[in-house]
Amino acid sequence: MAAGGLSRSERKAAERVRRLREEQQRERLRQVSRILRKAATERSAEEGRLLAESEDLVTELQGRSRRREGLKRRQEEVCDDPEELQRKVRELASAVRNAKYLVVYTGAGISTAASIPDYRGPNGVWTLLQKGRSVSAADLSEAEPTLTHMSIARLHEQKLVQHVVSQNCDGLHLRSGLPRSAMSELHGNMYIEVCTACTPNREYVRVFDVTERTALHRHQTGRTCHKCGGQLRDTIVHFGERGTLGQPLNWEAATQAASKADTILCLGSSLKVLKKYPHLWCMTKPPSRRPKLYIVNLQWTPKDDWAALKLHGKCDDVMQLLMDELGLEIPRYSRWQDPIFSLATPLRAGEEGSHSRKSLCRSREEPGPGDRGAPLSSAPILGGWFGRGCTKRTKRKKVT
Ligand SMILES: [Zn+2]
Repeated sequence: MAAGGLSRSERKAAERVRRLREEQQRERLRQVSRILRKAATERSAEEGRLLAESEDLVTELQGRSRRREGLKRRQEEVCDDPEELQRKVRELASAVRNAKYLVVYTGAGISTAASIPDYRGPNGVWTLLQKGRSVSAADLSEAEPTLTHMSIARLHEQKLVQHVVSQNCDGLHLRSGLPRSAMSELHGNMYIEVCTACTPNREYVRVFDVTERTALHRHQTGRTCHKCGGQLRDTIVHFGERGTLGQPLNWEAATQAASKADTILCLGSSLKVLKKYPHLWCMTKPPSRRPKLYIVNLQWTPKDDWAALKLHGKCDDVMQLLMDELGLEIPRYSRWQDPIFSLATPLRAGEEGSHSRKSLCRSREEPGPGDRGAPLSSAPILGGWFGRGCTKRTKRKKVT
């Protein structure tokens, strides 16, 4: 005798009935969904009756379709018209002038002009991988700080910006001349590898992407520490990892800055990741004492409702207008003055073959030291901070 007092054949019969009911329910859902897609005037009397009898299904389907529409709208890129943008920038300029402690949060949207793809824009890495398309690597070593990076460096020099918190791993804030103490690269920097066996951690800035062999939970770069011989690791924080390195993440300065901030300017970030760090938003303070929020992004962000002002525009366009409004000149990026070259530790003899990524060089024509000369521009992204972290996450999502 089986559990519940039912015989084997009774259980089988009950199972058949359950399956049949489920199938009927699915069929009804299909029918209702088909009828709902028709214009009300084109529905037959019988179809109208079916809708009236299936009120709960109709409500569910309409809810689903509203949610789908909402999601679609959130992914759309919206631009304010030029006059609207100008008006908003004037308001932003006055906020920048009046801020006592201004912190800037930056995301991939500030680097798209440097031909580094963003994550969640319509052609972002994330979006393409989710659609099952492959992603081509822009030649990261050709990327240079954008007008936005250079403007931020200038605003900091003018003491109008106190700290910069970035999700970007592209190292472009560092290369713009922004002092390291004034930035927190929360997700790491593709040009920096560290020895964690040394105390304090010994840092090696390189002029090439150190992450080509690294991935989620696999951070060793293949090179070793000059001092202790320990394995070097990259500084990248992939999705699903917790960043614990002191530098370049600089969490301490980021949380301190957030707690002191009276104004936060978010540039080119969907804020979907940043919003998960409560320390950055002073969530323990009552809403009236939280910093005023200004957001520049083409797409919707989860912080839009809290923003004092949302500007829909490209970061470079907004920053150009903002710097004009403030009467500040935007410094031009020059490779000759790029701080990365003076910060960098050269590879030792025998280490030249330890990477195949193109090195940065002070002049665009001259090949970097130890280069094998293979340009990356059309190669698909496989290794490193850009490809693998995302791919892993996408795969895992499919499983669940
Ligand atoms: Zn060491």
